[in-house]
Amino acid sequence: MADIGHGLGRLAGKVALITGASSGIGAGTAKMFSKLGAKLALSGRNEDNLKKTGDVCEKLGGNKVLCIQGDVTIEEDVKRIVEETVTHYGQLDILVNSAGILTLETIETTSLEQYDKLMNTNVRALYHITMLAVPHLINTKGNIVNVSSVNGIRSFPNMLTYCMSKSAVDQFTRCCALDLAPKQVRVNSVNPGAVVTEIHRRAGLDEETYQKYLEHTKITYPLGRPGQVEEVAAMIAFLASENASFITGAQIPIDGGRHVACPR
Ligand code: NDP
Repeated sequence: MADIGHGLGRLAGKVALITGASSGIGAGTAKMFSKLGAKLALSGRNEDNLKKTGDVCEKLGGNKVLCIQGDVTIEEDVKRIVEETVTHYGQLDILVNSAGILTLETIETTSLEQYDKLMNTNVRALYHITMLAVPHLINTKGNIVNVSSVNGIRSFPNMLTYCMSKSAVDQFTRCCALDLAPKQVRVNSVNPGAVVTEIHRRAGLDEETYQKYLEHTKITYPLGRPGQVEEVAAMIAFLASENASFITGAQIPIDGGRHVACPR
């Protein structure tokens, strides 16, 4: 029987590889995991930000952190990220796929370049890193948590490719969960709504529009506010822990009730 019943779930001694750890939800997850005793391999493109996350994690958890700079859309980088993690720690227990980007467009305003960039980042890269991590996760009977979105389960205007990519992530989660269940590897997703990170500004929202968007959550989100990275990280930590030992193939909305709301 799994060792259940420890709050969020202990991650002591578990080796976790987290992509997108240089910012936002990935960085918040790294900090949460370090407090719970995990041994971390953190990946991101921006070396300075990655190191900042790593330094905070070392202070919070006491374990030395392995930072691996890389671009998940570059195949050689993905191979290096997985190899360095396993060579360093000798095992892999948890993969958190948080690296992702947002673009804003409709079928009338899109380009194939934009489509390829988003799909390569949010879907192909996640597919690739998971593919390389799975043999190691089978060895440890480990688990995977994918960071999807409310956009995977609901449709929104002006977010065509992003919605498509997150629906693909959800289907990926469910299919991998079925394929890997016989090997005792669990696969789950979290589906956050609006969470305060850099992603919206990076998608091109200027400060005024971004603030209006956050303000608008008072109306569009039943709980009347956007989420914070810690609220997503807590669920990722739970799913990655033994407390979730009978959960696989789940998509957990963390969105203040956004996915059940209808406009009125
Ligand atoms: P941020 O922009 O704050 O962080 C994105 C992270 O992904 C960064 O660490 C970034 O690295 C990394 N990343 C992006 N592209 C690549 C790449 N090609 N190679 C390697 N790393 C890459 O956004 P969030 O934290 O908000 O986003 C994390 C995940 O959460 C995404 O999958 C997003 O879709 C999802 N999400 C976010 C929501 C939100 O409202 N914030 C809501 C629902 C889902 P670097 O900074 O080093 O370039």
